[in-house]
Amino acid sequence: MTISNLEEIECPNGHVFEAELLSAISVSDNPKLKNLLIDEEINLVSCPECGKVFYAECFILYHDSKNELIAFVYPLSFQNQAVQCKIKMRKEFELALENFEEKQKINYEPLMLFGIEDLVLLLLSEQDIEDEEAVLKCLASKLLLDTADIAPSLARKLKIPKVLPFPRGGKKLEAKSLISGLRILIEHNSNLLHYVEFLKKISEYETIFEDIKDDIN
Ligand SMILES: [Zn+2]
Repeated sequence: MTISNLEEIECPNGHVFEAELLSAISVSDNPKLKNLLIDEEINLVSCPECGKVFYAECFILYHDSKNELIAFVYPLSFQNQAVQCKIKMRKEFELALENFEEKQKINYEPLMLFGIEDLVLLLLSEQDIEDEEAVLKCLASKLLLDTADIAPSLARKLKIPKVLPFPRGGKKLEAKSLISGLRILIEHNSNLLHYVEFLKKISEYETIFEDIKDDIN
């Protein structure tokens, strides 16, 4: 659900006025909002007295159901109240779950962020990973690879891509098979830095595979 509220705002020159600010963003309702947010164009206001244009900070609930991302974005100045924010977030999350139509599907934890900048950085880094995943999907058949997906929230938690390469006909439920798939991909394109990083990680700690194998489909 995308929600905006009329809020009282003070401009950097001390003028007080009211403006409509977004306090909840649902990307599934309104995909364009994600780009506006990344371009830092949401909640930009212009002071009616002095004309100053600035970003009006307020609490934002960000939800992208496809990517399994729920972020509670508190104003940066709340950073020293992290514990209280976390308690508040838990309560509000439980409440929100009761209102979500797709509540059965929400089995992932919300993230707590401070400042819109942190959300923008997170979205940009996930876009980078998505670009690499798109390259893998494109190359898969040429490189005789199969791909398998894991849940976006799990991939985010482990800081790994959510589309994984396996040699065609290989066993998808084995770490060694995933490692060969990653090697084939990277030998072909060593610019896929998130996959390079993942190969390094899983070659060192094959046990990472235990965290993902039940989720592979
Ligand atoms: Zn002003």
